[in-house]
Amino acid sequence: MSWSLRHALVTGISGQDGALLAAHLLARGVAVTGTQRPGRTLDDWRLRELCIADDSRLRIVALDPTDGGACAELIGAGAFDAVFHLAGQSRVAESFRDPLGSLAANGRSTVHLLEALRLHAPQTRLVLAASAEIFGAPAQAPQDEGTPLAARSPYGVSKLLAHASVAAWRASYGLHASSAILFNHESSLRDEAFVTRKITLGVARIARGLESGIVLGNLDAKRDFGYASDFVAAMAAMAQRESADDYVLATGHAASIREFAGAAFAAVGCALDWRGRGVEEVGVDRASGVIRVRIDGSLLRPFDAPLLVGNAAKARAALGFTPSLDLAALARTMVEADLARLDAGSA
Ligand code: NDP
Repeated sequence: MSWSLRHALVTGISGQDGALLAAHLLARGVAVTGTQRPGRTLDDWRLRELCIADDSRLRIVALDPTDGGACAELIGAGAFDAVFHLAGQSRVAESFRDPLGSLAANGRSTVHLLEALRLHAPQTRLVLAASAEIFGAPAQAPQDEGTPLAARSPYGVSKLLAHASVAAWRASYGLHASSAILFNHESSLRDEAFVTRKITLGVARIARGLESGIVLGNLDAKRDFGYASDFVAAMAAMAQRESADDYVLATGHAASIREFAGAAFAAVGCALDWRGRGVEEVGVDRASGVIRVRIDGSLLRPFDAPLLVGNAAKARAALGFTPSLDLAALARTMVEADLARLDAGSA
């Protein structure tokens, strides 16, 4: 694939995907303008870990994507070849606490950006970070681009609005706007609020004798855990396709939270046995008999899709998308990064 981008706008530069995508683009000679929320100090630890914080081709600007005027001003003046809309309220659990805020951050922001592109930069391409949560509790597995959309969480509804808007603006105005239907993707840069990173940091702290156990919510939810670096590369490829389209990005393999925890503990040589049921379930260190995982019922969500697993055949064929890490390797990568941070005193 020839590399046609010269300047990209990445909303949500401070997040896992924003930082990884910026690094991916910069490494290919693409200048990046990244956005952060106005009035906040940029939390640039991910940019520093990726060694791009001081790259002269990376510019940071303030943008509230729920402000239509600000979106229009930035897009109109920016001369971007592509906009990657990654900023948003990314936590399903938080969306139950603040549904309207999530709808604005994820849904309304996308419409503002689409309108800004339509009016001021119709040649600029857009890639949206949508989510598998738009499928709700699908009867069909694996899910693909044709699976009925039936979001159940406020987060899913907000992403559904964004996803549907991309398709509508593409069809109605001919914009090169694409939606990435993202299944879970993790890395050592994942926020600690997400269960995978909570687990890997907890495992690292236990391995270093700083904690004795971790407390989790629903262990039964099955998710399709991919490696975030693969996902941002695919989003970059989406912007370079001749035609815009929507793509499921997923590994095709589902694992429960229990299995992810088992893989993370295995990375430090600890085999867990699971005993009990429901909120009484515990994960016990087979060698020492110490309880390493407990359940806190207050962490259970009003709705948690039992199984989300994607079929990325379309992305594989069109984008060359190939998942590079299996569950064990992904968990090990994350645990090793957390151990290194603890040993360096930076976690
Ligand atoms: P992160 O939570 O790591 O990053 C989110 C980014 O959005 C941060 O830069 C954050 O800025 C910004 N942000 C948060 N809240 C708001 C808000 N209310 N208004 C504007 N900006 C906000 O998420 P990821 O990088 O993992 O995800 C990127 C995108 O992909 C998100 O839209 C997410 O919903 C979506 N996605 C991710 C999946 C995953 O598994 N990672 C799966 C499916 C979808 P700040 O630093 O100021 O908080």
